[in-house]
Amino acid sequence: MTSLTTLEPLVLDGFREAVGREHVIESPLEVFGYSYDASFLALDRSTVPQAVVRPRTTQEISRVMAFAHQQRIPVTPRGAASGRTGGSVPLEGGIVLALDRMTSILELDTANMMVSAEPGVRTADLHDHCARQGLFFPPDPGSWKFSTLGGNVAENAGGMRAVKYGVTRDYVMGLEVVLADGSILETGGKAVKNVTGYDLTSLFVGSEGTLGIVSKALFRLRPLPKARGVIRVIFRTMDEACSAVQEMLLDGVTPSAAEIMDATCLEAVARARNTRVEPGAGACLILEIDGDGASSLEAQSLRIDTITRQAGCITFRSAASKEETEAIWAERRGLSSAVAAMAPNRLGEDISVPRSAFPEVVRRINAIASTTKLRIPVFGHAGDGNLHPSVLCDLGNPDEAARAHQAVDGIFKAALDLGGTLSGEHGIGISKRPYFADAVGPVSLATHRAIKGALDPLGLLNPGKIW
Ligand SMILES: Cc1cc2nc3c(=O)[nH]c(=O)nc-3n(C[C@H](O)[C@H](O)[C@H](O)COP(=O)(O)OP(=O)(O)OC[C@H]3O[C@@H](n4cnc5c(N)ncnc54)[C@H](O)[C@@H]3O)c2cc1C
Repeated sequence: MTSLTTLEPLVLDGFREAVGREHVIESPLEVFGYSYDASFLALDRSTVPQAVVRPRTTQEISRVMAFAHQQRIPVTPRGAASGRTGGSVPLEGGIVLALDRMTSILELDTANMMVSAEPGVRTADLHDHCARQGLFFPPDPGSWKFSTLGGNVAENAGGMRAVKYGVTRDYVMGLEVVLADGSILETGGKAVKNVTGYDLTSLFVGSEGTLGIVSKALFRLRPLPKARGVIRVIFRTMDEACSAVQEMLLDGVTPSAAEIMDATCLEAVARARNTRVEPGAGACLILEIDGDGASSLEAQSLRIDTITRQAGCITFRSAASKEETEAIWAERRGLSSAVAAMAPNRLGEDISVPRSAFPEVVRRINAIASTTKLRIPVFGHAGDGNLHPSVLCDLGNPDEAARAHQAVDGIFKAALDLGGTLSGEHGIGISKRPYFADAVGPVSLATHRAIKGALDPLGLLNPGKIW
């Protein structure tokens, strides 16, 4: 691979010409800030990029990519770096292509209920922009206040509302993508039905920045639900909580969110908020319901009350005010940091299983916790089978570090054994790369490689990710 160090003046000039002198960052202190993301990977000197290039337009991205291609420089795209698997961490030097200047919402087409935007727009900003016109952009990763649309598309981000509204892929109608050699590809469009050729749009969704740079995205929208309600239900066991969710879905009551947490999570939240866990509580469900108005919410709430009672709930609380709603959601939003505060280190994972396997995978994770003598609290999106076990440990203790890695291996194995998958929403990136080939099998791996080879023959786009 060409080294930027040896070609520095020429290469940097090429990038400066493409985006403007002030938008190429090269000071060692500043570029260090682009060497990590929100994953649980340790900082490493070798992941510091040689420069950071910040284009403003598609044409500028195209010029940067054409030049990088010509010079054989690796390119790592980056949104807000909120990724949990190291996707935007550069592994082979080269440049980080930061999309943070491309923050325009381009068109809100109310007649077609679609919106197009640049990749650097924050997820929550797009949501709020559409909501002002009574339209709803549902994908809501927990990171939505800072994550970007480009990152969401590249990771196929999900969120709490996925149980009712699906994930990012379900909303992408078309993309503009700059390919590795700088050419600009347009996929999809506003026609709702479209079977012209391969589904190239889907190919790029979830491709983790390895196939092209998303420079524009067109999303479909829904009407904004007029009313929302939140319910908190406590059960004795995770089994009871899971079966309540199954019953709701079978009954046709689909909550817009069904978040579950186990006893250790409840303990973590209580510690962080200086409150007490209800006696006998072994699991908690936080449910959001939405609909056309108060009567629709009331009907759903009554149905959920009956179903959760039948499943054996201990307490049922439906938020009666905005403050109470906020207080219930605050428990869920603060959960990640509350759990992290229980140990020096936390290896937060993201696996997904068929919904019916949720209780069994939790049982297996509990067994792994006993074998490895580590605490592994579990929370997740019960409605769609996506869960986040957190291996709590002290990585400074070599014996504990080895047991923690053994626990992570066991968790992935359990997910695959039960017909699940390595990632429900965070992608593969660097941290799950060692498991990828086994998870997908040789034919899928070869197909992935063939697609990569066709679109990025020099292997310059986000090298070292996924496999
Ligand atoms: C507290 C917290 C909560 C989270 N909750 C959720 C959740 O509920 N659901 C969920 O799915 N994820 C969640 N995440 C993970 C993360 O926020 C998502 O993966 C998010 O979509 C990443 O967006 P980003 O802009 O930060 O992308 P980055 O982290 O910068 O990049 C992610 C990947 O996308 C690529 N990329 C970025 N922009 C582009 C582009 N324009 N073109 C091509 N490739 C690009 C990068 O190379 C990288 O591979 C959470 C993270 C945190 C820290």
